[in-house]
Amino acid sequence: MVLSAIEEFDHLGREAFLDLYGYQRARDYFIEHDGRRYDSKAIAGVAHRHVDGSPLRASDFSGGAATVARHLRNLGFTVTGPGNTPPESPVESLLSKITTLRTATSPKTKHPKRHQPLTLLWALGRAANGEPRLAPWDFTRTEIGRLITDFGLVDDRPNPEFPILRLTHVGLWELPGHPNPPSAGGSDPQIWMRRHQPKSGPQAWFYNLVAHDEPTRSHATAILLSKYFHDTDQEALLSRVGLIRAEPTPTPPPSTTPARYPTTTNRIIRDTALAQWIKSLHGHHCQICGLQLTLPTGPYAEGAHIRPLGHPHNGPDEIANLLCLCPNHHTLFEARRNRHRGRPDPLRPSSRGDTRTPSHPPRTRDRPTPPRLPPSHLGNRLSASRASRYSKSGN
Ligand SMILES: [Zn+2]
Repeated sequence: MVLSAIEEFDHLGREAFLDLYGYQRARDYFIEHDGRRYDSKAIAGVAHRHVDGSPLRASDFSGGAATVARHLRNLGFTVTGPGNTPPESPVESLLSKITTLRTATSPKTKHPKRHQPLTLLWALGRAANGEPRLAPWDFTRTEIGRLITDFGLVDDRPNPEFPILRLTHVGLWELPGHPNPPSAGGSDPQIWMRRHQPKSGPQAWFYNLVAHDEPTRSHATAILLSKYFHDTDQEALLSRVGLIRAEPTPTPPPSTTPARYPTTTNRIIRDTALAQWIKSLHGHHCQICGLQLTLPTGPYAEGAHIRPLGHPHNGPDEIANLLCLCPNHHTLFEARRNRHRGRPDPLRPSSRGDTRTPSHPPRTRDRPTPPRLPPSHLGNRLSASRASRYSKSGN
């Protein structure tokens, strides 16, 4: 049955075969047969016509490990699962998988549940700190369970079985030696995990990527923070999973401090760990002009709070409220805020025609406080900034 479907696949070619029966290209699960790869769900659906006379449509059943892959393996076929082969473009694949996580909604808060995002942040932190990729189940369960308790939504239950299995089925996680884990629903996951005590961890390509590619790790972190944790103490969370150091680094040298206006002295002192982090995220490139200053001590940039911390603005110390700026643009940025105190606006003459400053649009005198940047803008701002940075350096 399966063999005749494979034969037809070979005869028609992949595109025509998928088209004819209404299937998408498989992303993760393939049958390997005679050295060739076949989209497993489509093959299984078409093979079904030998059971009741007509092939199944894609929408008639779900693909994936728990159904199609298990069935085909039971028939003796080799089925490769997600992550068995690294994706062709790991960076895009990782960021797109992280952007499109399917999370349940918390009935109480109406926010997306945080089990998977917390599991991923935990993994990013471990990779960043060179900890082993795979960890015993007991350890994983305890660590992620505590994270969910401390940083989850009020009604998030500390059951790490679910995010681990879900991430496994989307090809980000791995349970070596367990090709057929249950799907992430019902009571099966807890029973299964307790019985099998699997070692698990991020897929090797994912782990190696974020262990060594800091911009991608930071980008993935920023996506998760801006989408799931905008009302969380982000600094505490990043510090907890090991993505920032708890102790702040020394304040920048005074020679780079623009001291034209009284308020500028405040910002230099308040350089939080999160500000350190936004600078590292942008490789110390100014988000307005792209400039990266190099001092004898290394690259230098300033973390600017869009809405200032402290009285009277009470801006939040979170990633969506931060920019990475060169000292010049930081000075101009802050000076603009002083307009309501009767100061000239140094940004005005130079910002004509500059479309790269979407984070702080022109403001009127009766609105002295810059608006807080909505978290949803963060991804775009980061991508745009990274893109312009790469094009500047000629890559
Ligand atoms: Zn600049």
